[in-house]
Amino acid sequence: MLLNMSLIEKMCNKLGYYRPASGKYYLSKENNINVVVDEKQFKEVHKFDYNGVKQATTMLLTAMGQDISRPGLVETPRRVAGYWKELLEGENYTNQEIADMFRKDFQVSFDPIVFKECKNVFSHCEHHLALMFNGTVYVAYIPTYWNGKDNSDGYRVIGLSKIPRIVDMCSKRLQLQEKLVADIAECIELATGSTQVYVEAILDHGCVSARGAKSSGITETTYMSPALRNNKEARREIQNKVIITKS
Ligand SMILES: [Zn+2]
Repeated sequence: MLLNMSLIEKMCNKLGYYRPASGKYYLSKENNINVVVDEKQFKEVHKFDYNGVKQATTMLLTAMGQDISRPGLVETPRRVAGYWKELLEGENYTNQEIADMFRKDFQVSFDPIVFKECKNVFSHCEHHLALMFNGTVYVAYIPTYWNGKDNSDGYRVIGLSKIPRIVDMCSKRLQLQEKLVADIAECIELATGSTQVYVEAILDHGCVSARGAKSSGITETTYMSPALRNNKEARREIQNKVIITKS
């Protein structure tokens, strides 16, 4: 595919990243100069630095007026670094790599609507580093017909246990809930080859519930593949499944 690099550069300069059909591109600072890199190159440069997070936590506690020598806080920088290392695991992988990790697809002879409710979802908002908690994510897809090389043609599905694992890995990133549903949908599309994917997330946002107006932080976002948007019957069936499962 011919890439329009000037458009990619323009959009990266405007948004920090750009996502045309050919992949994802980010603006990265190298020697104080902005350069456009693809997702893989970006992740190689922006790696998790355990010791750096430990040191930064000590600085943060000090800046918050805390006595970092008191017993309760001595081990906190180490714990915080371990917390973020575990809960940002998904940052280490591209969506394609997550899809490959959990692909293990197999074929069935008909195309059921696959629907899965994933509970106990947690993520972190990238604006406040606050916990998004008590989450439930509903994932559905319509399998696509796949002609395997080894006579294994049929409708392609992935193991049901792989869906919550994809949701978990996408949640282990600094997220916006709108981006979370799109990431999950992209991984499901890549893992199953399906062009009809539905992802709905309901999460409580700590940064809204605990501060400011202290209003309810419960937020709902939905992603639907364009082909599913146009498939009214399947869309209605999936949305009914969500309503029934919620009640
Ligand atoms: Zn927030």
